[in-house]
Amino acid sequence: MLLSPVALTARLPPLPLTRFAPAPTGQLHMGHVVNAIHVWGLARASGGRVLLRVEDHDRQRCRPEYEARLLEDLDWLGFTPDVFPTKAFRAGRCEGRQSDRDHVYRAAAADLAARGLMYGCTCTRREIEAAAGDEASAGELRYSGTCRDRGWPLDEAHAWRVCLPDDAITFDDARHGPSTQMPSSQCGDLLARDRLGNWTYQFAVAVDDHAQGIDLVIRGDDLFASTGRQILLGRLLGRTTPATYWHHPLVMKSPTQKLSKSDGDTSVRDLRGAGWTPARVIGHAAHAAGLGGDASEIAAVDVASLFSARR
Ligand code: GLU
Repeated sequence: MLLSPVALTARLPPLPLTRFAPAPTGQLHMGHVVNAIHVWGLARASGGRVLLRVEDHDRQRCRPEYEARLLEDLDWLGFTPDVFPTKAFRAGRCEGRQSDRDHVYRAAAADLAARGLMYGCTCTRREIEAAAGDEASAGELRYSGTCRDRGWPLDEAHAWRVCLPDDAITFDDARHGPSTQMPSSQCGDLLARDRLGNWTYQFAVAVDDHAQGIDLVIRGDDLFASTGRQILLGRLLGRTTPATYWHHPLVMKSPTQKLSKSDGDTSVRDLRGAGWTPARVIGHAAHAAGLGGDASEIAAVDVASLFSARR
C-alpha cells in the first residue's frame, strides 16, 4: 500500500519504538525479510527505533543454533537493531530473549493473580475441543472457562489462564483502518502458561510490548486476530495507551499457503549460498510484497524510501 509521507506521519506515533520479533524455530526466510522491510522502513521513515526481541518462549521448538543463524543473517542483510543489538545477544548482555525474562512474566502473572484475574487449569486440548462441540471445527478454538471457578492453584502442575472480561476492543490499525474484536468470544480465557511451563506467545508478547515501551507493532496479517486480546491483556496489566498496529500482507507461497520457515528454498541462508547479495534479497522481498516498484536491489539502509520519499 502506498501512503503519502503526510498520511504516514498521521498514522504512526511520533518517534516510535517498534520491534522485530522472530521466533528461533527455523531459518530466516522471505516472510521475515518482508517483515523487516516494513519494521525498519516505517521506523526509519518516522524517526523511530527498532528493538530486537527473540521470541523463544516455546522451549520445545526453539533452538540456540537457529537463533545464532537468525542473528547472523540479520547482520548480513544489514538490518541493525537500535535496542538490543545482535552483539549484545551474543555476549549475553541483554534481556532481549524471552527465555531471559521469566521473572518479568512471573511478576505480571502474580500481579494478575493478586487481583483474581488468573486461575489454574487442567483442561487438555481434547477436552476443550469436546466442550466446544461443533464450534471447534469453525475457526479458532475458544476456551469455555471450565476451570474458572474450580480453584486450582497456580503452580507447576497446572496451566495458568487469564480471565478475560467481555470487552469489545476497538483499534485503528494503520493499514486496515478501524476494527473491533471480541477476545472473550474469539479465544475465551487466555492461556498464559502451559503445563510444560512455557509462557504462551499471547501472554509474553503483551507483557513485553508493555514492559519494553513498544508503541508501534508491525507484523503480518496472520496475527491480526490476536490484536484485540493483546490490547485487552495490556490493559489488564496496566497499560493505558495501546500500541499502534500495522498489519501488512504476507508473502504467499501460493494463493492459499503462506511461506513457512521450513520452505528451505526461500531461506536467506540458501539465497546467500546461491550467491545473492543482501540488496538483491531485500529487493526481491520488497517486490514480492508489492513494495518498491521495479527496483531489483535495495540496501537495508534505504528501505525507508519505500515508505516515504518516493510517494
Ligand atoms: N514471533 C512471531 C513470529 O515470529 C511474531 C510475533 C509478533 O510480531 O507479534 O511470527
